[in-house]
Amino acid sequence: MDESSRDQNIKSIIRLEDRVGQCSRCLSLTMCTSRPSRGKGDLEPQVFLVFECENSFTRDTNWLIELRNKIKQEFNIERVYHTFMVRCHPKACSNRQSYSCIIPGKMLGRDNICKLSRDICDGIPIKPSGEVIINCLTYLLEEMDILKPSYVVLFGKKVRDYVLKSCGGFEALQTGQPYEYKDMVFLSTVEETSLNEEEVQNLGRIIAKS
Ligand code: SF4
Repeated sequence: MDESSRDQNIKSIIRLEDRVGQCSRCLSLTMCTSRPSRGKGDLEPQVFLVFECENSFTRDTNWLIELRNKIKQEFNIERVYHTFMVRCHPKACSNRQSYSCIIPGKMLGRDNICKLSRDICDGIPIKPSGEVIINCLTYLLEEMDILKPSYVVLFGKKVRDYVLKSCGGFEALQTGQPYEYKDMVFLSTVEETSLNEEEVQNLGRIIAKS
């Protein structure tokens, strides 16, 4: 990739992240999200990792570094980027449920302090609904179109189902085989919570054969 295409990539990702930062498609989530998750890593990625949404694993920098290193080794590549299918963080919140009426607007500041409890947010992370996933999926597809990775690794069944369906990979959904679309190869694996050395090696073997 030449210098001008790289600059173009950076500008396009910044514009995308600005729109994500101002997004209010899911009001109930933006109220309790201090800031939406962002994709991170090399902006000319060979491998693009997609997690469902942020959790204790993806927030753990050491875990992420270790995963990246394993992927680099097994895929024999250098450039990795990771991102999320849903950018805001769904939570179950007893504070919010105990109020019958809440004024719209952000309840969480950047410091993660809740305006209702005036304490650190203690919402319990939950899985995103189908509606939220559909709302947010366009950002992920746009991010892939900008960065054009060679390989896309989908973590967990929900990520696999939504992303492959939106890219026409119905056969791969049934067979679990790698799926090629727009010069990218899509691979599915388990959720990051169940990921182990063997799973990553298995992905590496599939890449070696492709
Ligand atoms: S989850 Fe995605 S679509 Fe919903 S408000 Fe956040 S950024 Fe927007």
